[in-house]
Amino acid sequence: MQAKDAAQTGTHQFQAEVAKLLHLMVHSVYSDRDIFLRELVSNAADACDKLRYEAIGKSELLRGDAELRITLTPDKAAKSLTVGDNGIGMSREELIENLGTIARSGTQAFMEKAKASEGDVRLIGQFGVGFYSAFIAAHKVDVISRRAGEDKAWVWSSEGEGTFTVDEAADAPARGTRIVLHLKDDASEFLEDWKLEQVVRAYSDHVAHPIMLAIDKDTSRQINQASAIWTRSKSDISADQHKEFLADLAGTAEAPAVTLHYGAEGRNEYRVLLYVPGERPFDLYDPERRGRQKLYVKRVFITDDAELLPAYLRFVRGVIDSEDMPLNLSREMLQNNPQVAAIRKAVTNRVLAEIKKLADSDAAAFARLWETFGPVLKEGLYEDMERRDQLFEIARFRTTKSESTTLKDYVSALQANQTAIYYLTGDDAGKAARSPQLEGYRSRDIEVLLLTDPVDSFWVRTALGFEGKPFKSITQGAADLDLIPVKNEAKVPEADASAVGTLIAAMKQALGDKVKDVRKSSRLTDSAVCLVNDSEMDRTLERLLSKQKTTGVTLSAPVLEINPVHPLIAKLAAKAKASGSTPEVTDAAWLLLDQAHILEGEPLADPTAFAARLASLMGKMFG
Ligand code: ADP
Ligand code: MG
Repeated sequence: MQAKDAAQTGTHQFQAEVAKLLHLMVHSVYSDRDIFLRELVSNAADACDKLRYEAIGKSELLRGDAELRITLTPDKAAKSLTVGDNGIGMSREELIENLGTIARSGTQAFMEKAKASEGDVRLIGQFGVGFYSAFIAAHKVDVISRRAGEDKAWVWSSEGEGTFTVDEAADAPARGTRIVLHLKDDASEFLEDWKLEQVVRAYSDHVAHPIMLAIDKDTSRQINQASAIWTRSKSDISADQHKEFLADLAGTAEAPAVTLHYGAEGRNEYRVLLYVPGERPFDLYDPERRGRQKLYVKRVFITDDAELLPAYLRFVRGVIDSEDMPLNLSREMLQNNPQVAAIRKAVTNRVLAEIKKLADSDAAAFARLWETFGPVLKEGLYEDMERRDQLFEIARFRTTKSESTTLKDYVSALQANQTAIYYLTGDDAGKAARSPQLEGYRSRDIEVLLLTDPVDSFWVRTALGFEGKPFKSITQGAADLDLIPVKNEAKVPEADASAVGTLIAAMKQALGDKVKDVRKSSRLTDSAVCLVNDSEMDRTLERLLSKQKTTGVTLSAPVLEINPVHPLIAKLAAKAKASGSTPEVTDAAWLLLDQAHILEGEPLADPTAFAARLASLMGKMFG
């Protein structure tokens, strides 16, 4: 038995999630396994960036070896490929943590996707589980590392099955990391110069550090351009290079939907290369909602945690490189830095303008972008008051009349006397479109927005309106439809008004505090009843919040609206007028209320009573 502390060396177990992931890597068949090299080169480049940053205040870290680089060394005799860097390196603790015991955010997402696609892990890079992809090509991996500024070096070693070892290394680089891949038999192509060169050119050409291919023990030659891609002129960057740079930044395989590349001059000088990815990055819905744009100062990587864009633009990936911020800026100082604030403001506006430009110039491409990132962009509608109108200009909505419309188009087609922008929230557009509450709006040819993203329930409550028209939920409060005439519909005679009054009184009495009110509806044409809220929230939002215990919100008693032109209501009204609140009227009131709850997808307070009433009613049908 090893004491806890001694367990720092010797054999370690992979964390269960990591072990599963590795099992998948080791045993799957890959159509596109070149990407492991991209992942390892990307890590090596990150390590060089991190060292350069740490060396800003501690130049001794660079002593003796200031030229940061990545070296690929194929060894045909040993059947191994070594990916080396003279970057930051890893301490013993870092080796254990980074390469085996802490599952990274993408692991779970990756496992789910891999399971769904039956082990097809082509899209591995999407999930930020890069290092482990080494086991696609290697049956054994040794990671030999010496952290900058430390004396001791360590070797991490594993065959990818359950355990890894960590021991002191005898032969190690003076600084940085050497990853030795003992290649599988069928991976010997990665011993060939042409293959390595081809993969680097395809996937890693944007890497700003030199990537060297070792020719023999003493010579190597550079196989990438090694100039930061964002410093190159626009015309020198091919579509493929943009795509690969984005793949490295976001792990996505699609070409960018929007590329924004420019230099700002004047009081703040900086270069921007940002992308809207062509698909969702795996970490888009991280609860942290962190942006991941990288801040560089004069080509030195500072941080990807500077909040260079607001959270609702966190899907935008790329680099901002400042010419005039101080290099020795600590990450903490960035928080209240006025230059960062100025850059954030200017770049946010540029990004939104660029998205708008796409909306105006290429409807199909924009539709894809909105489909992919619309729900995130809409978070800005309640977080960024200042740019709400800008966001309203690009937002697209599904409505009862259209798959996708703008608010501008909506308000330009209002019915006479229509004073509000009507909306219905729900989880599912198809289901929402069948809601009884819509009937009265349909019969008046009034368009209703169908809002089905969770975020919708929130922004509609804070948004003041658009072009002077307030947003109004069709499941909240009284419907103000009386001034708008019904179109193309034979006027069905309403039930006798005094009979309806008696029925309403009888229903109120029967249902007690299970309803806030019973009233005549103008929003129904075909259905007999529906529920609406008279409280502060509309019914969908209240239902959404009541499902989360922590909110303290409970679903309030609804208003039951009855449709006076519905034959059932007319008959019930006549019955109530003739004989008052008989047991039949009471049963009918309960059945109507329960049925309305069911239509809303709400649980019944007393399903047993519902079943008994229904059975008794059916009994009478056959009696
Ligand atoms: P990611 O790069 O998304 O963080 P990886 O699985 O690729 O995930 O790498 C895991 C971690 O291991 C990295 O975050 C880094 O801390 C560490 N690491 C991997 N390769 C190196 C390297 N060559 N030098 C220093 N640290 C490394
Ligand atoms: Mg990585």
